[in-house]
Amino acid sequence: MQLKEYNIKKIVFSSSATVYGDPDFSPITEDSPLKPANPYGWGKLMVEQVLRDLCISDNKFKAGILRYFNPIGAHSSGMIGEDPDGVPNNLMPYIAQVAVGRLMHLNIFGNDYATPDGTGVRDYIHVVDLAIGHVKALDYLFNPDKDNLLTVNLGTGKGCSVLEVINAFEEATGIVINYKFAARRSGDVAIYYADTKLAEELLGWTAKFGIGDMCRDTWNWQTKNPGGYR
Ligand code: UDP
Repeated sequence: MQLKEYNIKKIVFSSSATVYGDPDFSPITEDSPLKPANPYGWGKLMVEQVLRDLCISDNKFKAGILRYFNPIGAHSSGMIGEDPDGVPNNLMPYIAQVAVGRLMHLNIFGNDYATPDGTGVRDYIHVVDLAIGHVKALDYLFNPDKDNLLTVNLGTGKGCSVLEVINAFEEATGIVINYKFAARRSGDVAIYYADTKLAEELLGWTAKFGIGDMCRDTWNWQTKNPGGYR
């Protein structure tokens, strides 16, 4: 049997802000130190390195390395959303399952961080903004006048605390979220959010949706799929 030969020369890679580990400062620029703090972050960074080397060794290869911050939300149709297996690890699906009555309350992991309200601050980005970022990255890679290696943050550039996310969810949906303060989660950092200037400059891309939109679209999906896709 003859193997079909593929001639793939352009790759968009889903990297992650976890390659920055516990950053020295926010907003985080793309040239900030890369110091992952867990195997997931190292996995992302190792693939980034392979792609960088590939693009240097063969300029026909083009790679778009996209460092996602915290993607949340759902498509506005309510047909595509996030349905984690078991108890969610991430904040937004957890909140949505409390709101729909599948979980009793949210545990807020730490309220003694050096942040304005003591809870962890992240850069949440709507999944549709993230998807558009990928299309812009492909436009870049298909443009022969552009560099063959692109590395950009995809975030909103705005930090949002856990309490601010809860407030935004309550405002967007009218549902009160029960929560309790709990111990810090091992490995969590206090604060990180993106510097998004490079993505704007190279791709002409900025995130359009705010935290209220992310909450509204999450809730729309969750109410249409109260038990997830099962
Ligand atoms: N978080 C929380 N309770 C949860 C899940 C998350 O308080 O049940 C907090 C977490 O400590 C962090 C933020 O919410 O400050 C975002 O966590 P998530 O796991 O969604 O993303 P991460 O930034 O850790 O990848």
